[in-house]
Amino acid sequence: MLKKFFELTLLLSMLILGWATLNSSALRKTVELDQPKIENLELEINPVETKAHVIVIDPGHGPWVNLDMEPIAPGSEVMKRKYGVGTTGVVTGTLEREINLNVSLMLRDLLEADGFRVIMTRTDHETISSNIDRANLANDNNADMMLRIHSDSFKDSNVHGASMLVPGSVGYAVDIVDISRIYGEIILKTLTEEIGMKNRGVITRTDQTGFNWSKVPIMTVELGFLSNPDEDRLLSSSDYQTKLAHALYKGIVKCFSQENASP
Ligand SMILES: [Zn+2]
Repeated sequence: MLKKFFELTLLLSMLILGWATLNSSALRKTVELDQPKIENLELEINPVETKAHVIVIDPGHGPWVNLDMEPIAPGSEVMKRKYGVGTTGVVTGTLEREINLNVSLMLRDLLEADGFRVIMTRTDHETISSNIDRANLANDNNADMMLRIHSDSFKDSNVHGASMLVPGSVGYAVDIVDISRIYGEIILKTLTEEIGMKNRGVITRTDQTGFNWSKVPIMTVELGFLSNPDEDRLLSSSDYQTKLAHALYKGIVKCFSQENASP
């Protein structure tokens, strides 16, 4: 009786051992079979190729007055100067072109560090091209946005704050009017909130050669008034210029992050 019990226990042990061995090799097989699936999954979730957004930054004004003329819009007989010399700080005497360029170069660095591709219309005070040539630089590079950077001036020295100029339905700009206004509103709102300055609103301009020749979203930010003593002092300081560049950078990022968020 006892012998039979031992025989039965032995048989049962062997059966269990056999089942366990079989099971573990089956498990190994399952793992091996699963391996290619994991690899396939990794291939599928590889990041999709993303094209860097191209931003053209146009720091307003050059070192000299050019009296050469160019048509204000494609096919137009109305002629306008190729560029102007800009305004000057009422208290500090700072030249507008200096402020525009300083802010633009800092903005370029911030955007490039964030993966944007930036094209500058100028990086010094020695070179400047016409409004049409600068618009074509953005057109030829199929830019996602062209931002023209300026500082303002007005006969009443009390007037202050930032504004945004956007194109109207003239020339090539007919196709980019709506998107330019949307981007312009986002950037101006971000700028004025970040800096804590007066928001003078988005203004449609049909008399800007650079706008009328643009096939890509385009706008001109007026960073403040050099004819206002307080804003002149601020605009002339490098701390404030750095703040302006950061605020513009934030606004541009917002334009494209909202676009990415929509289906
Ligand atoms: Zn200007």
